[in-house]
Amino acid sequence: MLHSPATPVVTFDTELRTLVEDMFETMDAAPGVGLAAPQVGIPLRLFTFNYTDDNDQPWRGVAINPELWITPVPAGHADEDEDIEGCLSFPGERFPLRRAESAVLRAVTLDQQPFEIPAHGWLARIFQHEFDHLNGTLYVDRLGHPYAKEVKKITKKRSWGVPGLTWMPGVDHLED
Ligand code: ZN
Repeated sequence: MLHSPATPVVTFDTELRTLVEDMFETMDAAPGVGLAAPQVGIPLRLFTFNYTDDNDQPWRGVAINPELWITPVPAGHADEDEDIEGCLSFPGERFPLRRAESAVLRAVTLDQQPFEIPAHGWLARIFQHEFDHLNGTLYVDRLGHPYAKEVKKITKKRSWGVPGLTWMPGVDHLED
């Protein structure tokens, strides 16, 4: 499922509300700065996010049926300190990946209210990472040399990449 595109949300009911509540709980327990529905086995286009930026401004919410507009990804190598990224669906690892510096997120809330967030730096990175999940792309799929090879090795060694593998944030402690 992590490598399949998710489908748009069409039914805004209590079931969706419960899913979003569960996703916030899972994201906080992991702990993570974002969580996309396919990561919890639901192939729908939504993700939650939770991040406090450098100006102490908190960004917490759910983006349903999002669109993401990004600036061009800068050329050159990813920086081992500045560009380091991780994913709850590839737990316990971090790899550097170049991302667009700025992004504009457009989505709707649980009440189907449209909203827009212009994002820079880390928040823009989080949006790009979570949006990728909705299109069946993991950040490890985007890595270049030599990280892609390392990912392959880890995947094989831990017998990942097969359907049905799960871990439980708050219980398994793979990310904290
Ligand atoms: Zn992820």
